[in-house]
Amino acid sequence: MTKLDLKGFMHGLKRRNPGQPEFHQAVEEVAEKLIPFINDNPKYLNASILERMTEPDRVVSFRVTWQDDKGNVRVNRGFRVQFNGAIGPYKGGLRFDKSVTLGTLKFLGFEQVFKNSLTTLPMGGAKGGSDFNPKGKSDNEVMRFCQAYMTELYHHIGKDTDVPAGDIGVGAREISYMFGQYRRITNKFTGVLTGKGLAFGGSNVRKEATGYGSVYFAREMLARKGHTLDGKTAIVSGAGNVAQYTVEKLIHLGAKVVTMSDRSGYIYDQDGIDAEKLQYIIHLKTVKRGDLSSYVEDYPDAKFFPNEHPWGVKAQLAFPSATQNELDGEAAKTLIKNGCILVCEGANMPSTNEALKVFEKAKILFGPGKAANAGGVAISGLEMTQNSMRLQWTFEEVDERLQQIMKKIHDKCVEYGDEDDWVDYVKGANIGGFVKVADAMLAYGVL
Ligand code: GLU
Repeated sequence: MTKLDLKGFMHGLKRRNPGQPEFHQAVEEVAEKLIPFINDNPKYLNASILERMTEPDRVVSFRVTWQDDKGNVRVNRGFRVQFNGAIGPYKGGLRFDKSVTLGTLKFLGFEQVFKNSLTTLPMGGAKGGSDFNPKGKSDNEVMRFCQAYMTELYHHIGKDTDVPAGDIGVGAREISYMFGQYRRITNKFTGVLTGKGLAFGGSNVRKEATGYGSVYFAREMLARKGHTLDGKTAIVSGAGNVAQYTVEKLIHLGAKVVTMSDRSGYIYDQDGIDAEKLQYIIHLKTVKRGDLSSYVEDYPDAKFFPNEHPWGVKAQLAFPSATQNELDGEAAKTLIKNGCILVCEGANMPSTNEALKVFEKAKILFGPGKAANAGGVAISGLEMTQNSMRLQWTFEEVDERLQQIMKKIHDKCVEYGDEDDWVDYVKGANIGGFVKVADAMLAYGVL
């Protein structure tokens, strides 16, 4: 078998998947680290494992028709990308956002395969969603959309086949509407979605898990270098579920968080966003569904910077926790220049591949999303476990398990990414996530 080379591999992938730049980017980041490893391991090379892992098992695309409050009939596009089911039922979130395309969901589904493998739990990778924009929609419109979406999706999911959850634009409200519709259509009460309310089969800590997990991962990276979070200044981007609970845990562990952001811009609070201010933001985003710009009306000592990212603010720690490609090469250079020692990705692929190169060159502590933000889907996995057992563990019990899982993911990254003078966590996460999935595929033979 001829050895793989990155350029040739990417050329073929781009030709087969035109117009999907985010998918190309996600594959390139993985392939760059995996190809040397695969070339050294003939069993993977000879079975064309990388070619197989970059082609989804299945893509479902469908029409979602619903009615707005004025009675107009509206049409959106719905998808579910079942990327790889080698090690367990398909698992991954649903994203409702106007920017969603098939290419976006393929990038997210591909990342999810590696992430889910790293959690140590038996979950394949998937992602779904719609170009529906929940922003500015009434509760009733969101409910009707979610019901229409589930009316098609339910054909393709099940507790042992595919278990969706939330992502951008899909939180507790949307999961509840979709679970209600699934139950109504099928007359089955099963763990077919995760991120459910605690009253109907949800898990403690699921809401907090992605953000808490990201901070636990950062704590492990720092501990290996003899540092702690206590007393350090942090910039966080985003103001959604991931960012909210990243900030909460950073505050618990003694760090000072000075920024958060959303589509309107970022807030800079030099006194630190404390627990009370964070509650204000959580209420603003989840109940009032407003923009961060109003923060400065209630906290006039803070500043608001419209339409800007927070990467120019001086801090030792950065937690990009909003969305893909929010941190480019220039921003990465600015962070390093300002003395940043750790970047931990709460979002999926927030750093561009140029930014990754800057971090690699500077040899800072860099936690890639597929490892650092795996806490969310890990607790989704434990929600599935609890649903199968028909019981609910306590908050403390689940939080303890989350900390153990994040430590295991960290150690797996070190196992495959240790380069003596620093740890290449990107390489560690990519190879560490790959091996289990590849070995399962090899064991099944050719199919
Ligand atoms: N959307 C989350 C992620 O990117 C969670 C997925 C899940 O819980 O299934 O990992």
